[in-house]
Amino acid sequence: MKTECLVVGASVVGGVAAKELARRGFDTVLLSDKPHVGKDGKCTSIISASGLARTGIRFHEALVHEIFGANIRCRKTCLTVRRPEPVAHVLDRFRLDQLSVEQAQDAGAELKTSARFENWDAATRTAQTAAGPIQTDYLVGADGIASNVARQCGFPALEHFVVAWEGEFEKASLNEPDVVDVFLDIPGLFGWAVPAGENTVRVGLATKTAAQLKTHKTRLQQEPVIHAMLHDAKKVREFHHTIPLHYRRQTQKDNVLLVGDAAGQVKATTGGGIVFGALCAQELAGACQAHRDGGKLDYETRWRAKYAGALDGHRRIRSLMDALPPRLMSFGIDALTAIGGQRFLENKGDMDFILQ
Ligand SMILES: Cc1cc2nc3c(=O)[nH]c(=O)nc-3n(C[C@H](O)[C@H](O)[C@H](O)COP(=O)(O)OP(=O)(O)OC[C@H]3O[C@@H](n4cnc5c(N)ncnc54)[C@H](O)[C@@H]3O)c2cc1C
Repeated sequence: MKTECLVVGASVVGGVAAKELARRGFDTVLLSDKPHVGKDGKCTSIISASGLARTGIRFHEALVHEIFGANIRCRKTCLTVRRPEPVAHVLDRFRLDQLSVEQAQDAGAELKTSARFENWDAATRTAQTAAGPIQTDYLVGADGIASNVARQCGFPALEHFVVAWEGEFEKASLNEPDVVDVFLDIPGLFGWAVPAGENTVRVGLATKTAAQLKTHKTRLQQEPVIHAMLHDAKKVREFHHTIPLHYRRQTQKDNVLLVGDAAGQVKATTGGGIVFGALCAQELAGACQAHRDGGKLDYETRWRAKYAGALDGHRRIRSLMDALPPRLMSFGIDALTAIGGQRFLENKGDMDFILQ
């Protein structure tokens, strides 16, 4: 089989890449390794309202809840930030992935399920897949953190990760169902309680090591706020997964392009990768179009020029937070409150581009 663009990974970012390529008139095939599409819900799926709008995904059918603010906690200190309008949407991740892929199909992309990408022959530009060989002009790796495209094509490894656990609980007692709780006193990333309804909450944490995850998971559930929430609640699902915290040193080799978690285009402050992954997928399609029109294939330069600065900003904040002992972080939160930082964050803070 022959196609112009082969997108490996039919999840949220692969869907955006395939849609944007098909919309530009490319003959596009989208591969899922499974009989179905998506990340199987292994995600908290809280996304800034502004960022989600920029992804171009028609997400409304996946919307389950709206968030107006956050309680940022460290030990006994708490900074509450709240806006009059929703700052973030909480989504059904299964449905979001389906919607992203359906939009790619509407734009003309062909979806192949149970079609795992196996390896790549650069000389003949042919991918071996469970659905047979596919020859292509552009190979797009949107196959997540364990990207087989990256491995087979010899890209440098992702270097910074955290390991995560999350449980979804129903019949939870939520005092503030429109506010998330963030617990900074967890090494690696943080802990969270994200309401996904009036009585449903997603509680999780991400740490540097598996041993820390075990210890801090117990500790997080003993936090008075979480304990009160989950006292009579019922766990309906849980999962473990890994989150990349920094982009790869290289995301393009000739006509092989990595995007989303496969490229590590993730915010190091929160582990959120949907917005930047989708924005980079848009840049990817633009780069392929410019190349087809006679220009250079400059995906790597394009996405870095637009988004690496913002991702680096998240990374610098992450490094600072990693270096601060909880005692100092707690002091910092008090100091921020004292100088009116709360008002500043309410007016100027942005979940993706930090300060706007
Ligand atoms: C606990 C947790 C909470 C998170 N919470 C948030 C959040 O609230 N907000 C946010 O923005 N981000 C969040 N993230 C990050 C977010 O889930 C990822 O950034 C996002 O899923 C990246 O999308 P993707 O399409 O690049 O990769 P993925 O969603 O991982 O999709 C990769 C796809 O490729 C497929 N695949 C893999 N190998 C092959 C192969 N060889 N052949 C064919 N297909 C293949 C997989 O089946 C999958 O469908 C969270 C992550 C975790 C772990």
